[in-house]
Amino acid sequence: MRADILIVGAGSAGSVLAERLSADPSCRVCVVEAGPAPSDPRVAAQITDGLRLPIGTASGVVRHYRSTLTERPPRHTEIIRGSVVGGSGAVNGGYFCRGLPRDFDGWAVPGWSWRDVLPHFLAIETDLDFDTALHGSDGPILVRRVHEFDGCTASFVSAATAAGFGWLADLNGSDTDAALPAGVGPVPLNINSGTRLGPGGAYLQPALQRPNLEVRADTRVCRILFAGTRAVGVECLGGETLTADRIVLCGGAIGSAQLLMLSGIGPAADLERLGIAVLAGLPVGTSTVDHPEWVLPVDWTPTHDLPPLEAVLTTTDGVEVRPYTAGFAAMVHGPGHDPTELPHLGVALMRPRSRGRVRLASTDPTTAPIIEHRYDSVASDVEALREGTTLARELIGGTAEVGEPSWSTSQHLAGTAPMGSGPEAVLDPSCRVHGITGLWVVDGSIMPAITSRGPHATIAMIGHRAAEFIAR
Ligand SMILES: Cc1cc2nc3c(=O)[nH]c(=O)nc-3n(C[C@H](O)[C@H](O)[C@H](O)COP(=O)(O)OP(=O)(O)OC[C@H]3O[C@@H](n4cnc5c(N)ncnc54)[C@H](O)[C@@H]3O)c2cc1C
Repeated sequence: MRADILIVGAGSAGSVLAERLSADPSCRVCVVEAGPAPSDPRVAAQITDGLRLPIGTASGVVRHYRSTLTERPPRHTEIIRGSVVGGSGAVNGGYFCRGLPRDFDGWAVPGWSWRDVLPHFLAIETDLDFDTALHGSDGPILVRRVHEFDGCTASFVSAATAAGFGWLADLNGSDTDAALPAGVGPVPLNINSGTRLGPGGAYLQPALQRPNLEVRADTRVCRILFAGTRAVGVECLGGETLTADRIVLCGGAIGSAQLLMLSGIGPAADLERLGIAVLAGLPVGTSTVDHPEWVLPVDWTPTHDLPPLEAVLTTTDGVEVRPYTAGFAAMVHGPGHDPTELPHLGVALMRPRSRGRVRLASTDPTTAPIIEHRYDSVASDVEALREGTTLARELIGGTAEVGEPSWSTSQHLAGTAPMGSGPEAVLDPSCRVHGITGLWVVDGSIMPAITSRGPHATIAMIGHRAAEFIAR
């Protein structure tokens, strides 16, 4: 099938976009995905179990990348991206919380204000707890909250409420004129009775019987092909080429940035240094953003077989305190993997000012790019993390032993190809690459600033919103 639209990456945004575009039977859509498909029962079992993170070193559904979190001193970590039909949304923690109205209004990108995006948030979800004008009632992604907490979460929630924090029953309840105050509340989850159902399962899978939709799993795109400045197709590892009228990159913040740069779209000096001919000199990967996190071990008794995070505390100055239900190893490998591991508390900065970088290490498409978070590049960010940690200690220090914090990441890397019209922008407001015809980016890369909540619900919304720009 020669496609009208070729989508690279069947992740959170790509899955929604593919379903939306193929709803028009006259539009032939081909999706190319580097990872495996859930037609393999072992893959399906890993991505639907919402009580485990299938992200260990032996996982066949993720890719690990080395990153440097801080510069002084250099602290290294592994960051993870889903590499499977469903993408990172098929392996994540299930926290499905919208960005706040002021996040979108603050982007100041035409077509992306809160009023513009709210209908798309409503369309993608069915909220099983709230039935108001702010919640969807017939979208494919089911959202629900936990109502009775156990163990770590229960201890944390009672400590926060005893300290005077209000109860936020609905973290998706913000509207333009009704910003949520500081408080503690249940996380909206796309995990229902232990089953994770993200955009891959809720959007792409049910659409697969359409004759005009094809998904090619286990196929990695290594370059975009051009005729002049028009994108006309892609080259896959192994040499196969696929052509289409419209090419959309949905490879995620790392995958899409890497493909753009390998194809000559990126910072000119960096590309020239690697001998890549520059097609469009654009600031790809120069201003990335993620939610920095400090992690503290707590001597709570771990709770098992629960979603990783069931409640959070949010402050008005942009800190989110996360009582994880178990230690990370237990979430990945199950209880008993490391009996000495303690549960932990995360303190995350949700409106960070630090910006990081993603750049090519090599012209070889199988070599991972260099990722630098530069979390310690803005002193006020580090200070805000310290203050958040002090708050967390004050909250639970009377009831539990809290260990020393260590640097970590929320795994929310975004903003490698931001929309806008200024010199920092790679895309126009309809997600089209500046200066190139027939090429769009639709995924977490496009955010000019990261949202004040985890990005997953927003990225699913982006897939839904952008379908209107790409459909004819
Ligand atoms: C372990 C983990 C836990 C997380 N937990 C949460 C959470 O609880 N809540 C939250 O809000 N956020 C969470 N996140 C972040 C969130 O899941 C991601 O930000 C989001 O899913 C990214 O969506 P995306 O569409 O941008 O990219 P992805 O969903 O990552 O999709 C990109 C897809 O493109 C494919 N691809 C990339 N390059 C190529 C190529 N060259 N050729 C072919 N295919 C390619 C990849 O294999 C992948 O399937 C988590 C992330 C991780 C990794």
